[in-house]
This record gives sequence, C-alpha cells and structure tokens, in this order.
Amino acid sequence: MKILQERILSEGKGLGSGVVKVDGFLNHMIDVALMEKIGEEFARRFADAKVDKILTVEASGIAVACIASKYFGYVPVVFAKKTTPNTMLEDFYSAEAKSFTKGSISLVRVAKKYINKDEKILIIDDFLAHGQAGLALAEIVRKGEGQVVGLGAVIEKKFQGGADRLRAAGVRVESLAVIEKVEAGKIHFSDDYKE
Ligand code: 5GP
Repeated sequence: MKILQERILSEGKGLGSGVVKVDGFLNHMIDVALMEKIGEEFARRFADAKVDKILTVEASGIAVACIASKYFGYVPVVFAKKTTPNTMLEDFYSAEAKSFTKGSISLVRVAKKYINKDEKILIIDDFLAHGQAGLALAEIVRKGEGQVVGLGAVIEKKFQGGADRLRAAGVRVESLAVIEKVEAGKIHFSDDYKE
C-alpha cells in the first residue's frame, strides 16, 4: 500500500532491536483518514471471505479494527484484554503471547461468549513481528471453535518471521506494508516500491 509505505518512510523511526516507531499516525496519534484507507484495503484483500467478526488485541489494534469494521459491513470488533479487569467476571479463553518489544509474556483473554462456534473471524493488528500476538488470537478463536479467515496486519516486519509462523499454522496473512529490514535506522520495504 503505497501511501502507507510513504508515510512509514517519512515519519517512521527504525530503532535498534528492530522496533519501528510510528507514533505520529498509528501508535499514539492516529491519522483517521489513513485508517479509513487501511480499512478499505483490508476489505479489498479479504473480499472473498465472509467475515462475521473482527478480533484484535488492546490497545493499538482497536482503532484499526474499528475503522476496518465499516468496510466489512460494521461487523462487531472484539479486543483481547492483556490484563484481567475486575469487571471480567465471566469465563474466558486465554492464550500466552510473548512480547519481544517489552520482553515479557502476557496472557491475552477473550470472554467465551464473544467467540461462537463456526463464526468466521478476521484477526487484525497494527504490527506483525514474531507472530506471537497473532498466534495467541488464533488459538483463542480455535478454542471457541470459530474459524480464522485470516490475519491482516498494517505493518509486517518480515525479518522477525511472524508471517511464516502464522502461515505454517494455517493462517492466511495479508500485510499492507512489509518491511524487509531496518538498517542503521533506515527502513527498507520488501516489494518493488521505489523510495
Ligand atoms: P508479535 O506478537 O507479532 O511479535 O508482535 C506484535 C505486537 O507487538 C503488536 O500487537 C504490536 O503492538 C507490538 N509490536 C511488535 N513490533 C512492533 C514495532 O516495531 N513497533 C510497534 N509500535 N509495536 C510493535
């Protein structure tokens, strides 16, 4: 997605350890007009899939998922929680996700009543890195006997192998910008987009 790649190039910062900072439009301040285009592009890529529900994980995935929902006919968005609030009294499905950016393991949870048998669920997230969050969300869908129709990532960092791990687990992956490498702070994309 050209406008996304241009935005990553003009504003994104490649930090050491492969972390990409895009706080100016995705992870802190949100460019809603860009999110609309992102939502539209996810709908185009998954046009052949009948999506009943979108699943994401708090916090940064929520804005992307909610705007994408408009382009899938306003399907409900469920976000997995990373902590157990006092209000989460019901039974939930959980799965472990290791965070390489934070260096910790978190348990992500979704109330059982929000994942139904045979429901077609699209997973959406802001970043796809090592694939831990995506695999944990797919595991939760499977525990609820739903069907994962795929995973849409706004930005994939190919060098961290998450897309390969997900595909090996049978999950279709569509990423709107694929970063091949981050070298000396410079971001390089893997397709033929010219800088
Ligand atoms: P994974 O589980 O695929 O390793 O990482 C995905 C999750 O970690 C995403 O939900 C995202 O919030 C966070 N993440 C991974 N890499 C980056 C990054 O380079 N920048 C930002 N802002 N978040 C990241």
